[in-house]
Amino acid sequence: MEKYIYKDLEFRFSGKSGLKLPIVSLGLWNNFSFEDSYNNIKDMLYTAVDLGITHFDIANNYGPPPGSAETNFGHVLNDGLGAYRDQMIVSSKAGYTMWEGPYGDGGSRKYLISSIDQSLKRTSLEYFDIFYHHRFDTNTPMEETALALDQIVKSGKALYVGVSNYNGEQLNKMHALLSELKTPFVISQPSYSIANRHIEENGALSEAKKLGLGTIVFSPLAQGLLTSRYLKNIPKDSRAGKKRWGMHNKVTPEAIAKIKKLNQIASDRGQTLAQMALSWAVKDESVTSVLIGASSSKQIKENIKLNTGFTKDELNAIDEVGI
Ligand code: NDP
Repeated sequence: MEKYIYKDLEFRFSGKSGLKLPIVSLGLWNNFSFEDSYNNIKDMLYTAVDLGITHFDIANNYGPPPGSAETNFGHVLNDGLGAYRDQMIVSSKAGYTMWEGPYGDGGSRKYLISSIDQSLKRTSLEYFDIFYHHRFDTNTPMEETALALDQIVKSGKALYVGVSNYNGEQLNKMHALLSELKTPFVISQPSYSIANRHIEENGALSEAKKLGLGTIVFSPLAQGLLTSRYLKNIPKDSRAGKKRWGMHNKVTPEAIAKIKKLNQIASDRGQTLAQMALSWAVKDESVTSVLIGASSSKQIKENIKLNTGFTKDELNAIDEVGI
């Protein structure tokens, strides 16, 4: 491992909190499971740290099987990366189905607290830096979820809390509850990309800004669509090639025609398409970080070179593609 330096990566405060995050963070949703090469996993994590990426995002259910991404992350920490624990921000989440039965899904106090205990064991961490409620749960009173998050912080299992997939109104209510409890609620994690702008409509972006919360956006490359991955064909080892998450249905001739236009705009501004898509997603300073996925170190190296200074013409040209 190279000497640990932050190189050129920009850091932004997560909203009005004192927590700084790198503008590019790495997520372990895909390609970090027991089905993937451990050497490649280790290589990607070490490469990320070498490049100055300090933030790693996991969830209880990342796999397959669920939990295996956390276990692998723990193995890499125990293999040496753990020496850098104080230079890392590690997050996990609970909210989607993790285990069968009434207590392995949703937003109850029982689920969240049991789940973080399991996640800490799998990763062999003493605490998470950020712990998220993974999705809004209409069946649990928000007060109960807020009190569970508060207890998680007060019992030392996480330093900060966040929520994911909440709209503006839901963020507002959770913020009011957690403010009353003085829980350090610092971040919202929605999806956002050139191809998915729903947070501009559902209030998640503007409300987070108003409340002083950071926003870290997931799937900023639309799961690989907004890259060179599918320009020529569907590689076997790609997410679409593996038929994961319906990606194979998204790589249509119509989509590829639009991707080619975006690729030309990126090339005209001296970037790859992946670099332009990531730059676009953090162009507004209220977006703290883009949360990328990767299947190789090469992709991570490409993805940290951003240029957020878009001209109006460039932004219009991107909008006109209408993906
Ligand atoms: P992206 O949109 O960044 O897609 C990542 C995929 O794009 C990679 O796996 C790779 O695909 C491809 N890719 C990345 N860089 C390049 C490149 N330079 N050139 C070519 N292809 C590239 O994000 P994800 O959808 O993976 O999500 C990122 C993270 O966000 C997750 O790991 C997770 O932490 C978080 N997340 C959170 C959710 C939530 O509900 N809170 C839901 C989903 C994600 P390939 O594997 O085919 O090579």
